Amino acid sequence: SRAALFEGGDKVKVTFKDVAGLEEAKEEVQEIVEFLKNPSKFTILGGKIPKGALLVGPPGTGKTLLAKAVAGEADVPFFSLSGSDFVEMFVGVGAARVRDLFKQAKAKAPCIIFIDEIDAVGRSRSKGSMPGGNDERENTLNSLLVEMDGFGTDSGVIILAATNRPDTLDSALLRPGRFDRQISIDKPDINGRTQIFQVHLKPLTLGTDVDAKKLSAQTPGFAGAEIANVCNEAALIAARRDKKMITNQDFTDAIDRVIGGLEKKNKIISPGE
Ligand code: ATP
Repeated sequence: SRAALFEGGDKVKVTFKDVAGLEEAKEEVQEIVEFLKNPSKFTILGGKIPKGALLVGPPGTGKTLLAKAVAGEADVPFFSLSGSDFVEMFVGVGAARVRDLFKQAKAKAPCIIFIDEIDAVGRSRSKGSMPGGNDERENTLNSLLVEMDGFGTDSGVIILAATNRPDTLDSALLRPGRFDRQISIDKPDINGRTQIFQVHLKPLTLGTDVDAKKLSAQTPGFAGAEIANVCNEAALIAARRDKKMITNQDFTDAIDRVIGGLEKKNKIISPGE
């Protein structure tokens, strides 16, 4: 029932300052930003800009956010697509969707194509493929490979893809000229969490006892998505309590709630434990 074949083609407002921490990753994608801003400056010297880079890391760590920020920094259109959308698809639709996406992206170049959960479509073709069961996924993967090979870096389209399972990817995707660069996006350490809290606390009305450092010490193992969640929950809790500002107590309760949610999720994933 989805009207659009894929999302985007619009400019985005996200920039690097919205992405807390991840300094090394930002440095690695800076080259892509420079290229998108001025493709001819690079191609005229015969330099080879990568066509694609793989953002590798656990869920909620900011892979999508970083990809958007690359487009935002370069002020170019952002197209996105999720590998999981292809899982239940009629024959021919996945491959057609990929072709259509590349066609539109080329028309709007320079631009970014972002493929989330690429492992859903890019799983190794030999390993674990059920006979006859994965034809459509393979068709889609093949059309992705064909499209990637069919344009040069001078087309000005850069493809970023995200996965938390790089080991399962078909090696064809990782060959030179395809996703030959991997950028790792790890869960934040205590300083990274402090920086992420600072970004998400900024728009909130806070009591004087709220401290990003203290909150990051209370949230070991949290990814950015969970931290964003904590900040939003704290605001909702404070509102329900008819408060004029959000205090440390609201955050402590929000953290408990988010931890509760995570535990429930883990129970569903590993029943009987
Ligand atoms: P998934 O693998 O589940 O798609 P992801 O790695 O793409 O996750 P995002 O969708 O980018 O994660 O992150 C979800 C949200 O969490 C972001 O929109 C943002 O609000 C917050 N977030 C995650 N990482 C960061 C970060 N480094 N700085 C600021 N906010 C972050």
